[in-house]
Amino acid sequence: MEDIKYLLIKFFEENKRDLPFRKERNAYHILLSEIIMQQTRIDQGTPYFLRIVEKFPTINHLAAAAEDELLRLWQGLGYYSRARNLHATAKNIADNYGGIIPNAFAELRKLKGIGDYTAAAVASIAFNEPVPVVDGNVMRVVARLFAIDVPVNSAQGKNIIKEKLLTIFLAEEPGLFNEAIMEFGALQCTPANPNCPRCVLKGYCQAYKMSATHKFPVKLAPQEVKARYLNYLVLLSNNGRIWMRQRNDKDIWKNLYEFPLIETENVVANETLLHINFWNKHLSFPEKVNITFQKTVRKSHKLTHRLLNISFTFAAVDEIFDYFSDKGFISVSIEEAEKKPKPIVIANILTEFINCKLF
Ligand code: SF4
Repeated sequence: MEDIKYLLIKFFEENKRDLPFRKERNAYHILLSEIIMQQTRIDQGTPYFLRIVEKFPTINHLAAAAEDELLRLWQGLGYYSRARNLHATAKNIADNYGGIIPNAFAELRKLKGIGDYTAAAVASIAFNEPVPVVDGNVMRVVARLFAIDVPVNSAQGKNIIKEKLLTIFLAEEPGLFNEAIMEFGALQCTPANPNCPRCVLKGYCQAYKMSATHKFPVKLAPQEVKARYLNYLVLLSNNGRIWMRQRNDKDIWKNLYEFPLIETENVVANETLLHINFWNKHLSFPEKVNITFQKTVRKSHKLTHRLLNISFTFAAVDEIFDYFSDKGFISVSIEEAEKKPKPIVIANILTEFINCKLF
């Protein structure tokens, strides 16, 4: 059992990927990369990390930026609360910690959006505090090594994982150990096809000995995916302006920009969407408005527990009217719309529109 930690570190030293945030033990880089990679694959998240670090080289640069600037750079990564919390935390660090990222797990844990996982990663990798990191990769490796049959996404399962993890944890080199076991999970003990025949830990692995690696980790049934139906009106005036609004309710995509929206319980037929009556019920256009409906385009977009069925109805209007400003809308040029932070599905529609594929 004692050998496991050293075998993991040997594996890491021989196999670790060359990742930009591993080049130096910079607390800001580690904090940023861990937040980005929480729900994102490393190959998808790395370009975002590089763009954000280029634009905001330190936590103080990030704190001084507008939230919209960060949200725009985050566009496409999803889970936007991560970006909003990161920005709030950067401001907090600039205002209350002298611009220096706290160096202890307990202090990091107090910051907005920083849970056990991120606090442990920053404290151990940047500051060598002996706290183990427990992410999805680590849970899978430990669940298989010890054949833990309690669901890892239950409180009891998490406690058992932590207990077992401490029996193999290398407290003298906590950052190195944490990186090693996470990388081992990502490269060797993968979710679908772990490379057991060539695994340095197979002599210790209970799941392998039972020929049951596919049974671990045990998980509680995932939450049901619910459908939502979002109907957007992309309203373009003859002088090239478009109506948008910043979302500010407690819901998906908070603080991102969208077009006028009507959410419905079910799918709405194209004939209905292409008629002013549908939109008038909720948006109440001025009486004399002259709108020409063009076409409806449909997209679907999957979030963790939601399947969004989205329709975009394009319409031309002959003049700008202020009426919508009462409802929180602003009219912006296409270039301004492009620069606003938006959900990726709206950003993509706008790009298609700019490239003249729509309308
Ligand atoms: S033997 Fe297979 S399941 Fe066990 S730790 Fe190695 S890769 Fe993972």
